Amino acid sequence: MQDIDTGNISTDRLTLPLLTEKNVEGDVLRLDKIHPLVSGNKWFKLRYYLEEAKAEKKTIVTYGGAWSNHILATAAACKLNKLPCIGIIRGEEATNLSSTLIKAKELEMELIFITRAAYGQRKIPERFDKSDYYFIPEGGYGLNGANGAASILNYCKKETYTHICCAAGTGTMTAGLIKAAQPACKITAISVLKNNAELEKNIQLLCGNEEKSFELIHDYHFGGYAKYKTELLDFMNEFYRQTTIPSDFVYTGKLFFAINDLIRNNYFQAGSNLLIIHSGGLQGNASLNNGTLIF
Ligand SMILES: *Cc1c(COP(=O)(O)O)cnc(C)c1O
Repeated sequence: MQDIDTGNISTDRLTLPLLTEKNVEGDVLRLDKIHPLVSGNKWFKLRYYLEEAKAEKKTIVTYGGAWSNHILATAAACKLNKLPCIGIIRGEEATNLSSTLIKAKELEMELIFITRAAYGQRKIPERFDKSDYYFIPEGGYGLNGANGAASILNYCKKETYTHICCAAGTGTMTAGLIKAAQPACKITAISVLKNNAELEKNIQLLCGNEEKSFELIHDYHFGGYAKYKTELLDFMNEFYRQTTIPSDFVYTGKLFFAINDLIRNNYFQAGSNLLIIHSGGLQGNASLNNGTLIF
């Protein structure tokens, strides 16, 4: 399997007319380019968990849904690190597995399906009542995840930016970026979940008493997690036409849509220089009908 190559990460300058008009600059940090499967922020969030599991010689166990970027990234990262791994998957096993789960299986992740009810209550099979397993929380949420995500900013000139913008699911990446950002930098995170009241607290739990300023924006979820509207897909296609940057409909499409809208509404002062994190996730677009996206 292809290795992860952080040397592929680039900062792509956005040259959209709106930015010129508003006198705002923006670079996209292309974490999506490190690997086709271990795409984007997931590898950064996983790196310290994997080191620990490797040192303790344990089998990794983690959780996710049928289209989970985290499940696939864990499967691929474990394969590269020669670590055994198990994915606990939400819901009954479907006759036609999603392309995400097919790939995870090909990478030798063992898949265990549990009912949505059991998953919701975090009821895991009894065989895991042993210390031979190393559990990674869903989405990589945790201190190791945030510290790994903090290293994302080693791949750009972070001191040149006034703002860092990212998509937030569990908030682990946001917490890492807050930790690693320059003191004067402002972090704006776009929540991709509907009414996620816990997000702010969950981020604060991971970044302790950092004094840096961050803002969570809850207005761009398009109906909720993994939900979308035609307006979002149209935007993603148009954004690709103008920038040749592909995005995913669960995270980065909502992020780029939001940033574009916020710039239009003068959320960022003239003279701002934004770093927008492309956190990957493109594999999830395979759940859309063929031809929906032009990339
Ligand atoms: C998981 C994921 C996120 C969200 O990261 P959190 O640390 O859970 O907030 C953002 N973008 C992509 C592409 C992801 O796969």
